[in-house]
Amino acid sequence: MSSIKTLLSLYLVLAVILAQFFSAYFFFSKGRTSYRKAFSALVLCISVYLFGFLMIVNSSNLQEMIFWNQIQYLGLPFVSVLWLMVALLYTKTIYSLNARTAILLFTVPVITFFVRLTNSWHHLFYTKWEMRQFFGYYSLYMERGIWYYVNISYTILCLLLTVIIYFIGYMKNKAGYTKPHFLVFLFASLIPLIGILLVIFAFDERSIDYSALIMPFSLLVISYGIIKYDFLEIKTLAREKIFENNFSGMVVLGPGKRIVDYNKAAEKFFEAINITLNNYPIEHILAREPKLLEVFTSEDSCDFSLVIDGEKRFFKVDMMPLGDLHDGNTRMLKSIREVTEERKLLEKLKYLATIDSLSGLYNRAEFMNLAKREFACARINNEELSLLVMDLDNFKNINDTFGHAAGDEVIRQVGSIIINNFRKSDIAGRIGGEEFAVVLKDASWKEAKEKAERFQETIANSKILYGKQEISITISIGTATIRGNANNIINIEDLLRMADDALYKAKAKGRNCVATSASGSHI
Ligand code: GH3
Ligand code: MG
Ligand code: MG
Repeated sequence: MSSIKTLLSLYLVLAVILAQFFSAYFFFSKGRTSYRKAFSALVLCISVYLFGFLMIVNSSNLQEMIFWNQIQYLGLPFVSVLWLMVALLYTKTIYSLNARTAILLFTVPVITFFVRLTNSWHHLFYTKWEMRQFFGYYSLYMERGIWYYVNISYTILCLLLTVIIYFIGYMKNKAGYTKPHFLVFLFASLIPLIGILLVIFAFDERSIDYSALIMPFSLLVISYGIIKYDFLEIKTLAREKIFENNFSGMVVLGPGKRIVDYNKAAEKFFEAINITLNNYPIEHILAREPKLLEVFTSEDSCDFSLVIDGEKRFFKVDMMPLGDLHDGNTRMLKSIREVTEERKLLEKLKYLATIDSLSGLYNRAEFMNLAKREFACARINNEELSLLVMDLDNFKNINDTFGHAAGDEVIRQVGSIIINNFRKSDIAGRIGGEEFAVVLKDASWKEAKEKAERFQETIANSKILYGKQEISITISIGTATIRGNANNIINIEDLLRMADDALYKAKAKGRNCVATSASGSHI
């Protein structure tokens, strides 16, 4: 019956070649996913285990068999824990795996390895072994020691956990494209579990290693998955590339708000503020940055600014939930995008749209907007508010005498004088050619009159320099005031008209003077 031995050997040779091929394939395949490396190690361990079995089948004496059984244990103890590792790493958005847990998981396999290595001293693993003949080949018959049962229990536990993880992954995964992957992994993980159960429950005199026989099928299921769904490849790779090389920084938060993944841009962003990202909860990583912590733990999208190397920079953080946010297990993707350039451009556009380029004051439209708002506030809060309307006297003469460019320079310098002589809280605008207006918040009729007179004097006393020429100017000012909501002046246009009328009066009086609005004078 040596044909059975030949067939079995052939089967095992093919399985070892297949396993070796997969191991190399996953090891050298592109992408930085850790589960690929773990998968490569898993398949390598399987191939060592199968190779050992192949050599046992072809051994002719007990010593050789024991030697090859020892070789099997170079890979065998680690198979189940690596199945579990692959499962944990593959589903790391669901469960997070930190280094300490990973080391802990390997404790039993490492002990098993040493217990098996030193078995002849203590017989804790095999109490007895002998060579038995079965269907034309010799098999190693062993009686199991206590540690054998510890190891096999741990193996079953790992495989069971693996199956459960893939099952939960399959049930929870809403992204249709990864669903079949979970199914393939789930199925492939069930096979070694069945093998182990057979080893335990179908244990017989012939001591057939069912799990070694069955393991190649598991590899075949996975190869089917690879061919059918191209998983771990193109699609996954493309998604990974988009994630990894995205201009936006991306941070994946898993259960307990632990950082389970991040891309290069996120790493760069945090490096700029001297923060190193790792597998810790975000609360731990951003413990000294409460503002950032709030942004990153918030379940909404938000904006924030930071001073980096003395420069104020703006960022936008968007949130994408991964799975159900309300199951108490926050899983989300936070993307950080720098918006400093857009902000600056927006500010520049806003400036250009609201500021008069010659005087540096608000243009008419913006002045009216802001004045309207202040007017409404004053009425609501029952506060006083005054408006000055000012027009340069005989400006035509200035243009005619010194030229239009000189006239422009006068407007520019009057703009600066206005900025320097009114409070920051006042609103000043250029509302016409050489006509200006100022809203004085919380200023009574009297205060407005005094302020206007002082300003009219300031202008009269200032000398406008244009090249080597000195230009003297004067200004006429009309004022109007509301005292909260006690007046029947209900909109800013009315107030402007009143101030205009007063200005007209000032011009009529001979210019270079202040006139107050009629309704204001009896307040
Ligand atoms: P009044 O004292 O009555 O105000 O006399 P005025 O000469 O100032 O008369 P008015 O206000 O009617 O004339 C304004 C002149 O200002 C008309 C226009 O040529 C000139 N002007 C308007 N806008 C500009 C400007 O942007 N630059 C220059 N250089 N001149 C302007
Ligand atoms: Mg004028
Ligand atoms: Mg004018």
